[in-house]
Amino acid sequence: MAMVTVTALSAWSMSVSASQPASAPPATTAQATATAPATSTATTTTAATSEAKRAVKFCNERLSGISGPYDEAGLKAACEAAQTMSGCDSEMGEPIIHFEKIGTDKNHGKKILSISLIHGDERPSGAVNRAWLTRLGQIDPRNTWRVLPIVNPDGMSANTRYNSHKVDLNRNFPSKDWQRSAIAYWKTSTRSDARRYPGEAAASESETRCVMKHIVDFKPDFIISIHTPLGVLDFDGPSVANPGFKPLPWVGLGNFPGSLGRFMWMDQKVPVLTIELKGNDGIKRLEDFDKLQDIAGTVAIQAGRVLQKEKKK
Ligand SMILES: [Zn+2]
Repeated sequence: MAMVTVTALSAWSMSVSASQPASAPPATTAQATATAPATSTATTTTAATSEAKRAVKFCNERLSGISGPYDEAGLKAACEAAQTMSGCDSEMGEPIIHFEKIGTDKNHGKKILSISLIHGDERPSGAVNRAWLTRLGQIDPRNTWRVLPIVNPDGMSANTRYNSHKVDLNRNFPSKDWQRSAIAYWKTSTRSDARRYPGEAAASESETRCVMKHIVDFKPDFIISIHTPLGVLDFDGPSVANPGFKPLPWVGLGNFPGSLGRFMWMDQKVPVLTIELKGNDGIKRLEDFDKLQDIAGTVAIQAGRVLQKEKKK
């Protein structure tokens, strides 16, 4: 799947092409631009430039508007590397931006996809990915990260859990049981809670399809989905040790038809770590965000080892 790389020269953002062997050194954006087919025209360059500007502007405006601690200069620098993938606009036409950083471990480590604000009224979840993408611009991580800080920009604007079609995007993924169970579960178990409506059909929403595009393009080994307000680390994955992040206990809450956990872990055996921040306060100190990111990276590595062993059995 072609990814529209809209960043200019930036050491920060290096794209892993889906077709690239895992062991090959990653091509920098600059190289990718240099080797782009000669069919690019002035028109597409202009379009790409305005698209890049739109992504950078959106990044700065939206991410700086979330409360909580952050490194202002670091975020500004990181936003320069904001990217968009074609087809990744919200239903109301806002960009769904992403960031990528290649890991330094053997084969670039585990590929970790981290998403937040899939529920538009859970603003502190965006503060976590804001801290992480800012930090990724400044460190050489073990693992390869792709970060989507605002999956539901329209819901964020309206301060609603659902998107502009009133669909709960985290019930809209095409899990194998969607057809059979999503609507039935919504009617019986949630008593048709408007905040949890799974949509008229699986993957009916552009925001859902954007996340799916990233999954196909990036092929994550591990997914992190950040929410509020339950105050737990909820893991859908193989049995791994409790990483011991004090502010948030380690639990298994289970998952729902059409949720990312059911779609990726139950159906496709890609572990999903759901970070549920406590209340609407989020995390107060930047170093706690750092710690949480490192813990998540370690869980990704451990889960990868367990899955590898299970495969060999
Ligand atoms: Zn949520």
